[in-house]
Amino acid sequence: MRMKTRLLVPGPTPTPPEVKLAAMQELIDERTSEFGVIYSRVVSNLKKLMCTDNDIFMFASSITGASESIIQNLFSPGDKILVASNGFFGERWIKLCQAFGLDVIELDFKWGNKIDNEMVKSSISNDPDIKAAICVHCETSTSMVNDVKGFCEAANGVLKIVDGASSLGVCKLKTDEWGIDVLVSGGQKAMMCPPGLSFISVSNRAWKYHLDSRMSRFYFDWSLAKENIDSSPSPWTPAISLIMQLDTAILRMLEEGLDNILQRHIVLGRMVRSGVQAIGLTLFASDSDVNSAVTAVILPDFIPADSFLKSLNLKYGIQVAPGVGELKNRIIRIGHCGYFDVFDILNVLSAIELLLYQYGYHHQFGSAVVAAQKVLVEEEGAIVSDLLLS
Ligand SMILES: *Cc1c(COP(=O)(O)O)cnc(C)c1O
Repeated sequence: MRMKTRLLVPGPTPTPPEVKLAAMQELIDERTSEFGVIYSRVVSNLKKLMCTDNDIFMFASSITGASESIIQNLFSPGDKILVASNGFFGERWIKLCQAFGLDVIELDFKWGNKIDNEMVKSSISNDPDIKAAICVHCETSTSMVNDVKGFCEAANGVLKIVDGASSLGVCKLKTDEWGIDVLVSGGQKAMMCPPGLSFISVSNRAWKYHLDSRMSRFYFDWSLAKENIDSSPSPWTPAISLIMQLDTAILRMLEEGLDNILQRHIVLGRMVRSGVQAIGLTLFASDSDVNSAVTAVILPDFIPADSFLKSLNLKYGIQVAPGVGELKNRIIRIGHCGYFDVFDILNVLSAIELLLYQYGYHHQFGSAVVAAQKVLVEEEGAIVSDLLLS
């Protein structure tokens, strides 16, 4: 049965053909003007996607590396930082801050719930020593997308750091308008590139914190990176091929248009949510259009999620992500951020229907697919009839 493999996890995500090909170009020296042109184009296009005029720094690391650079470059041991967490990646930020000796105020919310920005606001106004507030935009472990605009308003007065790993290129994310001082993201989610590249935007206000910071650092030192900021990502060898791939991916994204990309993800998310619910499965997070990067689904009690995912991959070649942290073996996470279209969704829903049946869960065959198709018809009805007329 298994012939093709299909990747539907929220990172790494599938790469478009031209992005694959971009990795096969002849390598060029990073000190040449040719590379400088590519690099400046990537940076200026990234600014468009991130909706910012701030400086961009890029690193040859997974996204956690860039996140680590934020802590190293902005703070000193003992600084008090608030982390609002409602999932696995929020918890990762807490561990990261603690690893560098920060005094972390943890605001923990139930996984699957939203961050309560009123609580963020009162914690910050009750403690004038707090220097910064951190939150994750799309909490990929639960599918829940937090209200970052509200978070930034609540954290007014302190530095605002936002993890946009899986939300950039999926969700509305207005870095400058919302007042995000540092936004971190990377290549392997909605940016449709292989893993290994991360980047951040840094506001002038954040730069002032950087000048005061006394944390040890070297590889990720922003001051070293800033010296040649317009032509090279760092004083070290950059991930040249990955940057050429990111260049290609972003050009494709700009051609599609950011608004169209966001709308496409909204439709994909709606299709998945209505599909799984049509066969009686339960969503882990709310059935909301903002949760459009990934969908976390609770399987029937008697089906162990990890075994189900293993079968889905072995039998049908479809890779869907497991739950992590406290959700391990409790949910499955269907990723649809990046290079996905509606037929990817129909495939995965159809495979899930088939496999559920084999696991002894009886449902009306085709219901998930039909529900998803209905979403699509409602969305695209007008477009389809235009095509038929022409
Ligand atoms: C994917 C992801 C990360 C990145 O982790 P790396 O494995 O270091 O690239 C960080 N935060 C969130 C919310 C993510 O989804």
